[in-house]
Amino acid sequence: MKCHYTYDENGERFFIPMCYGSMYEEDKSQCTCLDPSTFHQFEKKRFNEVLEMKNRTIKDQASELKHLRKLIETNNL
Ligand SMILES: [Zn+2]
Repeated sequence: MKCHYTYDENGERFFIPMCYGSMYEEDKSQCTCLDPSTFHQFEKKRFNEVLEMKNRTIKDQASELKHLRKLIETNNL
């Protein structure tokens, strides 16, 4: 969640800081929150998802290879 404004029950607007940049400010002028909707953030997220999927595949294949080697050893093939 990024720094944002909200309203209380009296309709008064106040600021909710979510990053260090806005910690001592009353507005978003120093906000350093990342915008998750930017193309760069989207690409980084997608890259990490693909990388995780590939790493999981490699781990699964290594596990299968270990199992097959064990079968070969136990059956003296
Ligand atoms: Zn912020």
